[in-house]
Amino acid sequence: MSEDTEVDPRAELRSLAGALRLHAQQLERMGIYQAGGGAREAASAASAGLDGTADSARSPDGAGPSVLADPPSEHDRDAPARVSLAVVREDLGECTRCKLSPTRTNIVFGVGAPSAPLMFVGEAPGAEEDRRGEPFVGAAGQLLDRMIGAMGWTRETVYIANVLKCRPPGNRDPAPDEVAQCLPFLHRQIEALGPRIIVALGKPAAQALLQTSAPISALRGRFHQFRDVRVMPTFHPAFLLRSPDRKRDAWSDLKQVIDELQRLGVRSPNAPRD
Ligand code: URA
Repeated sequence: MSEDTEVDPRAELRSLAGALRLHAQQLERMGIYQAGGGAREAASAASAGLDGTADSARSPDGAGPSVLADPPSEHDRDAPARVSLAVVREDLGECTRCKLSPTRTNIVFGVGAPSAPLMFVGEAPGAEEDRRGEPFVGAAGQLLDRMIGAMGWTRETVYIANVLKCRPPGNRDPAPDEVAQCLPFLHRQIEALGPRIIVALGKPAAQALLQTSAPISALRGRFHQFRDVRVMPTFHPAFLLRSPDRKRDAWSDLKQVIDELQRLGVRSPNAPRD
């Protein structure tokens, strides 16, 4: 190969890192927050790879910046590549499919690690979430963060989303037609993430995911199934703030999730609380 055509691997890596950084910025603008294993970190890690640490460009589970469609592995080469969260977000677009769009400030898509084994699903954004474009950032969100922390995880290592991506005015319950329009996007988020366990927070989330009209008191405390994912319904943190005496029940539900994750061979980043 002549000097003219010889590729400088360091320059190539630098240009790849730049492209990744741009991609990460684009994803953030679309509301797809990248946690530890995200594209932004991958870009920095790719740069860091210039001094021999390129392995750190992988996400915590070794799957790489998995917001991109995962390449099929040996055993599932014939299976279609999993669609990425970015594609789902792009398809959602500046949604006007239901009557919530004129009153929302921001679409609240979801937050967390794009290949999280543990997912939390709430009902719909509230006022603070609508303002900031991120789920569970108000008072209920602070309690949810503590619940996640007690399980040995963090907001950045799980994935959090809602059934509805837009705030119902006055925080009223989601209407059936709104759920019907939005639920397919939650289904696609689940498909993209491939979580092992979903915690459904409160009645609307549990009922929508499990297609049931049973009350949360009858659903919580045992595993259900959504496609190939185990679902544990439990009380919504906003309810727990109003009824702190039910926190003990919620913790018992979450302890079952901790045990099941362990049984599935999924390790939490931190030790769960006893
Ligand atoms: N309640 C929810 O169900 N979701 C949020 O994002 C905030 C509060």
